[in-house]
Amino acid sequence: MTDFDSDPSPSGDFDVAPVRLTVDLAALSDNWREMQRRSGRVRTAAVVKADAYGLGIEDCGTAFYEAGARDFFVAVAQEGVTLRSYAPDARIYVLSGIWPGQEQMFFENDLVPVLASEEQLAFWMSVVSEHGDHPCALQVDTGFNRLGLSFEDALALAGDVSRPAGFSPVLVLSHLHSGDNPASPLNRQQLELFQQVSAAFEGIESSLSASAGIFLGPEYHFDLTRPGIALYGGESVGGMMPLKPVVKAEARVIQVRDAAAGGTVSYGATHQLSRESRLAIVSAGYADGYLRSLSGSGVPIRTGGSSGAFGFIAGHRVPVIGRVTMDLTIFDVTDVPASDIRTGDYIELFGPNMPLDDVARAAGTIGYELLTGLGLRYERRYIYPE
Ligand SMILES: *Cc1c(COP(=O)(O)O)cnc(C)c1O
Repeated sequence: MTDFDSDPSPSGDFDVAPVRLTVDLAALSDNWREMQRRSGRVRTAAVVKADAYGLGIEDCGTAFYEAGARDFFVAVAQEGVTLRSYAPDARIYVLSGIWPGQEQMFFENDLVPVLASEEQLAFWMSVVSEHGDHPCALQVDTGFNRLGLSFEDALALAGDVSRPAGFSPVLVLSHLHSGDNPASPLNRQQLELFQQVSAAFEGIESSLSASAGIFLGPEYHFDLTRPGIALYGGESVGGMMPLKPVVKAEARVIQVRDAAAGGTVSYGATHQLSRESRLAIVSAGYADGYLRSLSGSGVPIRTGGSSGAFGFIAGHRVPVIGRVTMDLTIFDVTDVPASDIRTGDYIELFGPNMPLDDVARAAGTIGYELLTGLGLRYERRYIYPE
């Protein structure tokens, strides 16, 4: 079971931190194993771009490696260099490929560039004819129009025998744009195009599915799956979260104040109190990635009358009221017994009691964006697998 409540260091800064993050690496490892199970007989990578979705590439990378992952995807080369110390013999793919000036970085750290345009491909051909053999991967566009060789160029490349001797692709991949919508017929369209690509590059491994694609079924798995968000306990398919929560974000209550009926709250006085109220002021704001669009009122996303985000404390869900500010957010705790909330307590912003994706939805965004935008002020605590 996920154990967010055991505190191995009861006297550290963690107890008084303005904002703090608990990352359950045991749950993270379980999630990787679960995605591996769902990937059937094919290998399962771990996507650790953007500092492992904001949770720390060193600790998360180590946990995946110890769970058995030997294929990793990062976005940019520098992330691969960091990861290399924690995943010594793993294959590390760099999704944005390689650019002139980075050759040494790729060779020294044994990074595999994912070549995604004709320009990069031409550059890579010149690199390997000069420096010799080094593995690369190829991304092929099957409808995303983000990165990737065109379908036609990829098929031409597969049949081209005049490539330099050191050109040795080890993986061909593509990316689904609508995997989060299992009912979309566009998934099958991309699948069918990619099946042709995969067949053309016979003898080379292929990979199509990120978290959401894994749930589309075995046809979508090919040789290697590439889950990211699911490993971190986020929803890849809206409303479906079969995995364990990994992260808990909390903010400290720095003041509990009484406020008279008729008074207003926060910038712009956009919230007027309809009753005598008790307010908890917590030390987290949009500088901590607790987005301004989570405000209870006074932001464009709330003009339709929808409520803002909720926090969680001592068994109660408490609403954000008024605008979230840079460093502070105000929660209405009138309905919480006074003994259940005191200065120095923590309100859970998201975590096991307040699902990440529910909070993201209140801001009009996705869990991915909340995680990767967490900001620098969090005191972090990692729970290690036993
Ligand atoms: C980010 C990314 C992934 C992982 O996606 P999730 O939705 O987080 O599982 C996989 N493949 C590529 C190419 C990506 O950019």
